[in-house]
Amino acid sequence: MNQARESSREAADASPSSPSIVIIGAGMAGILTAIRLLEAGYRRITIFEKSDSLGGVWRDNVYPGIRCDVPARMFCYSFAPNPDYSHRFATGREIWEYLRATAERFEVSQLIRFSKSVTDARLEDSRWRLTTADGETAHADVVICCTGILHNPKFPELEGRDRFAGTDFHTARWDRDCSLAGKRVGIIGTGSTAAQVIPAVAREAAELVVFQRSPQWIFPMPNRRYRDWEKRVLGRFPRLAKTFHYLFGKAFQWSFSQAMIGSKPHVAWVRWQCLRHLRRKVKDPVMRERLTPTDRVGCKRLIHAKGFYEALQRPNVTVESGNLRRITPQGVETDQGQTHALDVLIYATGFHAHRFMRPMNVTGEAGLTLADAWRDGTTSHRSVAIPGFPNFFMTLGPYSPIGNYSAIAVAEVQVEYLLRLIDQIRSGNCDLIAPKTSACEAFMRQADAGIKQTAWYSGCQSWYLDQSGRTAMWPWSFQRFRQSLHRPQLSEFVMTRRPATDSNNNNNTPTNPKKRDSHLQPTTRNDTELLPN
Ligand code: NAP
Repeated sequence: MNQARESSREAADASPSSPSIVIIGAGMAGILTAIRLLEAGYRRITIFEKSDSLGGVWRDNVYPGIRCDVPARMFCYSFAPNPDYSHRFATGREIWEYLRATAERFEVSQLIRFSKSVTDARLEDSRWRLTTADGETAHADVVICCTGILHNPKFPELEGRDRFAGTDFHTARWDRDCSLAGKRVGIIGTGSTAAQVIPAVAREAAELVVFQRSPQWIFPMPNRRYRDWEKRVLGRFPRLAKTFHYLFGKAFQWSFSQAMIGSKPHVAWVRWQCLRHLRRKVKDPVMRERLTPTDRVGCKRLIHAKGFYEALQRPNVTVESGNLRRITPQGVETDQGQTHALDVLIYATGFHAHRFMRPMNVTGEAGLTLADAWRDGTTSHRSVAIPGFPNFFMTLGPYSPIGNYSAIAVAEVQVEYLLRLIDQIRSGNCDLIAPKTSACEAFMRQADAGIKQTAWYSGCQSWYLDQSGRTAMWPWSFQRFRQSLHRPQLSEFVMTRRPATDSNNNNNTPTNPKKRDSHLQPTTRNDTELLPN
């Protein structure tokens, strides 16, 4: 980092009102948030990470075949392009290494406290008190939840699941000690994860049974290897790499994103591509029929995959369509009463996407809990904040455009918006900031109305819908998202001061003169501050 930036950091942090900030989660969004806070001059930052290393989903998901199905040129931070990706679609390992290297490069690694799972966050005396699973407590002025969406593995509610006598595991908890060579393996699910893992498992296992409840739309994914000279050129000219990042982003926005939010020509184009791919790859009409989806393109997440159809037609692979009845000690029994004996059963059955930061308990103003606030479904103001929970923010929260764009780009927009909100605290305009209930309700009313024309709402079952069949997604374009979060409208927020008491101002904490001038209550700080270890 250059010297000017460094000294602006020091200056900014010398301000008595510079808030202490806890980021929960050291995945892609948590690392990004810390980088941007550091660059904006904040220093009192701590990241609590539940695991013993960083990387979030790219640390957890190590199943064979894992790749990002968003083009690698745009799957990096816009300010830190990665010229070293080996293919157009990067492997999970490469992304994990990129995140680790970026955290080092931007001096974020030293802010992380590993193996610290935050179980409770509570607003007490206008500051956040956090408790971790190992009993530690800490205080912070601001909490930013970067806990991600797809981190709670979901298992099907099938009778007998705990009685399977072989080895079983979820794709997000891959058992590296379990060799599949020569085994009879079953995989439940045919979503994005299954489409990547099936070709790899089919090559290794003696027999593979794929349990497909619904056929999926599969978009072809030509995955060209990048040549060494391309990597060298992009490494030498970072502006060129940034241009690629921009262009890939634009291409994505004007193609797939448009299809997801209901543009008919784009839906027709994606559908045509998928059906042509199916026709080319699957010649047997019976098999092709079984693999042809009946729901609307994009209703479930569109799958980009290479080698999936080829794998399903291997002689050692059986595709079992329909519902499952139960798991037995020997294997899996279908609704038709057929039993498949298995040595290994792999659940590619997705995630509890609507839990967000839960099971963490969160208690905001006047004892309002997140469980109460989200009783009838998850809510947010513009995807980043919740009424009644001041200074408690999220990246990739409810109503993020995760169904139609890359999560990294979404998080970048959100973090810039959050920086502007937190700057209200640092500049002395308030101590606490939370969205107004009325503003949040108006936002959600519009978004819920917009969702009806999207593909996600066209009648299929997917992780985009919560248990009550509601989907909390940004229903418009990514461009509109960026415009909407370009700058906070402060009229949409309640901005308040901490109440002053004699006891909380006797620690000689300097009072911000700006605040005295404005006849508002001074900010005080009695608690132990959070500092990086
Ligand atoms: P998913 O999309 O939720 O798919 C779960 C699969 O399990 C579906 O095929 C589902 O069938 C099946 N299933 C669930 N319960 C079942 C049951 N009781 N009986 C039979 N089948 C059952 O999960 P995922 O594949 O893990 O993907 C989740 C998300 O992770 C993706 O949408 C994507 O956002 C992300 N992801 C990204 C990448 C990437 O490259 N960037 C890669 C992998 C995953 P139905 O379709 O019938 O419900």
